[in-house]
Amino acid sequence: MYAVGLSGGIGSGKSTVADLLVEFGAVLIDADQVARDIVEPGRPVLAALVERFGTSILDADGHLDRLALAQVTFGDPDALAALNALTHPAIGLEMIELRASQEHQDVILVFAVPLLREEHRAMLHFDTVVVVDCPTELALERLVGHRGMDRADAQRRIAAQMSREDRKALAERVIDNSGDLAALHAATIELWEWLNAARVAAGGEQRG
Ligand code: ATP
Repeated sequence: MYAVGLSGGIGSGKSTVADLLVEFGAVLIDADQVARDIVEPGRPVLAALVERFGTSILDADGHLDRLALAQVTFGDPDALAALNALTHPAIGLEMIELRASQEHQDVILVFAVPLLREEHRAMLHFDTVVVVDCPTELALERLVGHRGMDRADAQRRIAAQMSREDRKALAERVIDNSGDLAALHAATIELWEWLNAARVAAGGEQRG
């Protein structure tokens, strides 16, 4: 297995790159999806959240009501810290288990981690880190134009993130997404070839 940490700021294009890599044959572990999975009904994290925040965070079917949870934690640093302490370790553990399930497969395993930090590299044994980057104004335009996000909300989210420079400093390879979708597609093909060469250099089988 060759493990890749994939990150990028909000609206940078990392999901587009992750989807293309899956099309080319990568196996994807998406931290956002894992974060949703660990709070499914019946999972211990959901029970712990209910114990801490009360049943108002559940919808009528007993699923987590994310909006209600956001409301009870909004502007309350202690509540936010408690939420992170209850969820982050479980997300990390689940990702470690998912990685272990692929350990002996000759695959390129891509971990899409929006808020990637240096400690994730050791925790998940990344062989390399790739960051998708584009100018903030362009990310804003895409989030508002393509996703229908409120501009002020998108701006707030971008401001709360790590800076572009700090994020790029984490990466061995930066994908520049300041061009059109065709350019991103071409850059991702090139990335896929580079990752495959690295996989083979690390002892993987030559294919194609
Ligand atoms: P988030 O952090 O919100 O999940 P993301 O980094 O995963 O965002 P994407 O969802 O891949 O970003 O891209 C954001 C939006 O911009 C999408 O609607 C996507 O189709 C569009 N997009 C991405 N790259 C380009 C591009 N080069 N040209 C035009 N549109 C693009």
